[in-house]
Order: sequence, then structure tokens, then C-alpha cells
Amino acid sequence: MASVILKPGKERRLYAGHPWVYAGEIAQMTGQPADGATVDIRDHKNRHYGRGLLNRQSQITVRRYTTGKEDLDADFLRQRIGAALAARRPAEACRVVYSEADQLPGLIVDKFGDQLVVQLLTLGMDQRKPLIVEILRDLLQPAAIIERSDVHTRKLEGLPEAKGVLWGQTDGATVIAPRGVKFAVQLLDDQKTGFYLDQADNYTIVAAYSEGRRVLDCFSYHGAFALHAVRAGAREVEAVEISETAIARARQNAELNGWAGGIRFHCANAFDVLKQWDSERRQFDLIILDPPTFTRTKDRVEEALRGYKEINLRALKMLPPGGVLATFSCSHHITGELLREVVVAAAADARKTVRRLQVLTQAPDHPILLAVPETEYLKGLLAQVV
Ligand code: SAH
Repeated sequence: MASVILKPGKERRLYAGHPWVYAGEIAQMTGQPADGATVDIRDHKNRHYGRGLLNRQSQITVRRYTTGKEDLDADFLRQRIGAALAARRPAEACRVVYSEADQLPGLIVDKFGDQLVVQLLTLGMDQRKPLIVEILRDLLQPAAIIERSDVHTRKLEGLPEAKGVLWGQTDGATVIAPRGVKFAVQLLDDQKTGFYLDQADNYTIVAAYSEGRRVLDCFSYHGAFALHAVRAGAREVEAVEISETAIARARQNAELNGWAGGIRFHCANAFDVLKQWDSERRQFDLIILDPPTFTRTKDRVEEALRGYKEINLRALKMLPPGGVLATFSCSHHITGELLREVVVAAAADARKTVRRLQVLTQAPDHPILLAVPETEYLKGLLAQVV
């Protein structure tokens, strides 16, 4: 078996449980492994640190999938995917494989009823695509398998974007009701793999504060928070979303649930709307802020923080005592602590005292490896104005 030999000291992160080897940490390679193949990881004293997928084209040159010595062949893949399935509670719609968190670096599989959506984010997994399709068919017996590898991170692995039906026949359209509210999804076109499964539990947690209340759902996408608020008995619900196609789907979802009159939709920039409504001194009892990532890189964190501060400030100003803010960041570079600091600073400027009701994160079918901060990407805070 070919090996990568680490520079002295560079084994520490792997010892601590983090699965990545960066290009600059490798002293030498033995054998002539092809990119996408498996390699042993060894330190400068030849101690074994597991086995990983190699890709010289990526800054993350090796991604460990085992601390043992198994090859990533059909049997082992089947075992690992089976373990990921066994770790989940059965659900109509959920993430069944989540990459590093399931020790399958670069493989994401989401289940939407009888259809599966697969994302292949590493060369090693891309090369094993036929095996993966076969195993998924066998273990889950789906009606169709769709690939949604149309993400820019594939470029970092030297891979082109890819999208299409891998197996079976489907136009990608289906309806799911992961927490009892119906959503029309288009698995071949919608953002992510079709639905924000990572927020699914937060919809009900947040909606629990909406009975009899005035609710504002900003960055609403297909209306998920707004729809759950309607179901929970909100008095009034407004949803703001900049994309016309997303708003159209949110409307369709409201109709699908029989709540067509229950939500006022605004196709607009949430920054502008928040600013205007704040200046008009409008009030809400529950405001949800679930923006897209404001930064994909470390050097733009400051700028992103200004964006988060702005929307949180406006929202807090519109919340009377007892009002609840559900605020999120899905940026890898914004830690939970940074989000907390943003809300603290916004509250100070708004002259409000806020208390934390709950810390929110991604649903448990998107597990977080305790030793791998990168697996914790969704941070949320449920806070109440005192
Ligand atoms: N809350 C949603 C997911 C939101 S994703 C859910 O749980 O399903 C972020 C959304 O914000 C996207 O739909 C994007 O189109 C929208 N968006 C991006 N910039 C915006 C802006 N400036 N104003 C309003 N919406 C925006």
C-alpha cells in the first residue's frame, strides 16, 4: 500500500481526531498512488494513522476515512453506508450520509421519500460512483437516484460540476412533509439537494413561539419557517425573499397546505425591508433571520459580521418586550461565539436586553464530529427581548 509520510509534528491533528492532511504537511509519498486511490497515513517514525483518499490536486491532499487499514472497496463502502443508515432515526426526508461525519469524506446522500439525492465532493468518491449507486439501490431500494454535484467546491478537487439522474426515472419533482408541513421540492433544481433538511428541527422549535403572534420570516426561500408559524397558530405572517422563483414556490407551498391567505409574501431585499419597516416603527413578536452565507472565505469575515449586525439590529429594534429573535448563520467562518457577539452588539445598539432561550444548530442527521469544527456549520440563536 502506498503511503504518505507526514512531516514531524504534523501527525498531531490526526491523532486528535481530525481527518485531513494538507499538502504542506506531507514530507514524502511512497509508491505511486493515483489520485483518488487510498493511501496509508504515516508519521515520520512510520507510525500508522489510518488510511485516506488521496488527491494531489486538492489542498486537502488526504482525507482519512478509517483509523484502521481497510481499503475503500465495495464491502467497506457498504459497511460504512449501512452504519450511517443505522445511526439515523427512520424519516421520510433526511440526510442519510454526511461526508466526514460518517467517515465517508466527500459523500452526501439525502433521502426524499423514495428518491435519493447524491453529492460527490471528492475525486475518490466520484471514482466510486457506480459502486455507491449499486450499494444505495441495494440498501434503500429507491425509485430513483439523482446526482447534485453542481457545487463550486468540486473545482478544488479538479472535478467539473455534474447533475442528472443516475438511476431510475424521475423529473425530480416530489412532495415531502418532514415535520408535518407539505413542501413541493424539485430535486434536480432547488438549492442544496432540494430542501434545507439541516433546518428541519428548527422549524418546529422556532414555530413554538408563534401562536397568536406577528411573525416575520426573512430570507424565507420556500417559506419553511413562515409555513410552520402558520401551522402553529400565528396571528399574522410575513415572508421576505429576494428570489422570484423561491417566492413563487413559497406561495405554491402555502396553497398545497391550504393556507393560501395565511402569509403575506414580499419579493424584496431583506436589508431594505428591515430598514424601512424599522423606520416605520413596525413591530413583530417573532422574527426569523436565516440569510445565505455572507462569506465563504476567512478574509471577508469582518464584512460578513457587519451584514449580520445590520439585520440583527433592525430585527431587535422591531421586537417589543417578550419578542423572540431566531437568528442563524450558515457560514463556516462565523462561529457560534461570533454570532453571539453580533447579537450582543446589536442588542446594545438597539438598547435592548436579550436573554438566550436556546442555542440552535443543524439537525442531528447532519452530525457534528466533536474533533472537526468544520462539520459544525449551522449556528443559530433563539433569543428573547426582556
Ligand atoms: N430559511 C430557508 C432557507 C434560507 S436560504 C429555509 O429554511 O428553507 C437563504 C435565502 O435567502 C435564499 O432563498 C436566497 O434567495 C435569499 N436571499 C439572499 N439574499 C437575500 C436578500 N438580500 N434579501 C432577501 N432574501 C435573500
